[in-house]
Amino acid sequence: MNRILQEKGGRVLAFGAHPDDIEVGAGGLLARLAAQGAEVTMAVVSIPSNAEMRRAEAHASADVIDADLFVLYDEKACRVEDIAMHELVRRFDNIIGDVRPDLVITHSSNDLHWDHGLVNRATVSALRRTPCDLLAYLSSPEMNAQSRSLGNCFADITGYVDTKLAAIGCHKSQLHHLDLESSRDLARAMGRISGYEYAECFEVLRVRI
Ligand SMILES: [Zn+2]
Repeated sequence: MNRILQEKGGRVLAFGAHPDDIEVGAGGLLARLAAQGAEVTMAVVSIPSNAEMRRAEAHASADVIDADLFVLYDEKACRVEDIAMHELVRRFDNIIGDVRPDLVITHSSNDLHWDHGLVNRATVSALRRTPCDLLAYLSSPEMNAQSRSLGNCFADITGYVDTKLAAIGCHKSQLHHLDLESSRDLARAMGRISGYEYAECFEVLRVRI
C-alpha cells in the first residue's frame, strides 16, 4: 500500500457483493488513488434486481471514481449465496490474474450481511498465492452497529468526500436507503478519530512494508 500511495500508480482492485457497496465503503479512497495515478478496478459480484438500471448506475458511479467496472455475474440476476463458493473463488482468481493488483479492498468478515461475508471469504481464498496488500471495509457501518470493529486503518479522503458522495448518488434506484448526509457524517466522524477532516476506516488484513 505504501508503494501505491508514495510512488503513485499501481493497481487497485475492489470487490463488492452488489452495486453501491464499494462506493459506500471505499469510494473516497478509490477516488483518491485513481486521482493519484492508480489503475482502479471495481468488481461487483451480482446485480440482484433491476439489472439494466443498476448496471447503468454502477457504470456512471465508476466513471465518477475514474475506475473500470466489471460485473462478475452479468449473465443473470442472482444472489451471491446462490453461487457455489468454489465457482466464486474461480471467478475471483480470474479477475485477480487479469488485474494483478498491488492492493485489494473487499468486504469485512465482520459485515453482518451474509452476501458480504461470502465475498470476504472468496477474496481471502482467491488471494492465497497472490502477494498484495489487503484491506477490508464495512459497506454500511450504520447497519453493522453490532459488528466488532470498524477497523484500524484510516484513509484521508478530505479532498474526495464529495466525489464519494457523487458516486453513491449515481445509484438513484437505491437512494431511498442510501443516506448521503449520513455517509458524510460518518466520514467526518472517522476524520475526527484519525486527525483528518474526512476519512474512511478499513481493517488491515495484509500489508507489506
Ligand atoms: Zn451489498
